[in-house]
Amino acid sequence: MRPIQGFQAGLLAAALVLAGALSAAPSADVPARPTAEDGYFQTIVRVDDGVWLIAQPQPFHIQPIGNVVVIEQSDGLVLIDAGGSPGAGRRIVELVRSVSDKPVKAVAITHWHGDHVLGLSAIAQAWPTTEIVATDATDAHLRGRSMKAYPKGAPDAALQAAFDARLDGAETFLRDTLAKPGLSERERAGFEASHRLFAQYRQDTRGLVLALPTRTFGDSLRLDDGLRPVELLHPGRGNTDGDLVAWLPRQRVLATGDLLVAPIPFGFNAYPADWQATLRALEAKRPAMWIPGHGAPMRDSAYAGRVIALIGHTRDAVAPLAKQGTSMEEAKKRVDLSADRAVFVGDDPWLTRWFDRYWTQPFTDAAYREAKGQPIEQGEG
Ligand SMILES: [Zn+2]
Repeated sequence: MRPIQGFQAGLLAAALVLAGALSAAPSADVPARPTAEDGYFQTIVRVDDGVWLIAQPQPFHIQPIGNVVVIEQSDGLVLIDAGGSPGAGRRIVELVRSVSDKPVKAVAITHWHGDHVLGLSAIAQAWPTTEIVATDATDAHLRGRSMKAYPKGAPDAALQAAFDARLDGAETFLRDTLAKPGLSERERAGFEASHRLFAQYRQDTRGLVLALPTRTFGDSLRLDDGLRPVELLHPGRGNTDGDLVAWLPRQRVLATGDLLVAPIPFGFNAYPADWQATLRALEAKRPAMWIPGHGAPMRDSAYAGRVIALIGHTRDAVAPLAKQGTSMEEAKKRVDLSADRAVFVGDDPWLTRWFDRYWTQPFTDAAYREAKGQPIEQGEG
């Protein structure tokens, strides 16, 4: 069966899908780097005693950087996720060193997407003895087809050139979009910020290397400690088929990876029914704090509840269309999630656009396949 095409390195592909073609050459003039208001560069904040969150201050970007959680144990630090590029990884190393002198002893990867793993190389360079932990399924995706575009072990000129050409496509898309009339002020500001973001991302993704897991597990792995034990769990399929969450049983802090993303959930190549069940199982743990894969920490389960409802509403909207024999393309046009969309993004035209691209369209694809009993496979980065 043809796998769903969709989620690529970070969310680059969604922009490229919109670009439609990668043929145009980039312009010679270089756009400015992100401003402070763009909220691109991650900062570190303490969220609990001995627990910090490294996150983008402005949570929605076309090409985001995944959250990184830093947990202090007696003999070293445990990181959850690693950022989305070697450049982001180097900044994460500095942010970690700004709060603790202890070495990073383990980095647990929540899933295989590039915006969570491509900073690993810089972190492993700073702390060469660190373990890199992932579920078996995520390990297989990192080593296999999903991440075949990325060099393993050492940089590779041909693969780097191919990656850079994809960035040319993103830049062309942004220039073309900004040249079109009819954008709202908010959309124009969003695309201009994205243009600055991609200039920085191009810088950050020089010398791409994917560092691979050194330790894997199927269901759970406990990193024991006197103060802050960490349970790494595969709670079931959801955002991917290998999702890992980190649970601190003493502090009742839960880092979810992209099972939760705010303000716009990402619906690429997901497993709709499993995702609902997985989030309900996590809700049953009664976390005191949810740390999403993107966005700010949450002190209650309200947002998780909204995502569970959104998954249900999308499945309910798509399944009858699939069963009536409506084509996938037609179903994507006809599915109406405007009421749910308003709950997540209000009437913001910039976020409305991306809610449709990052949730409605890809998740309709997944829900349609689910309703038809077709397999859902992970995409390529
Ligand atoms: Zn992500």
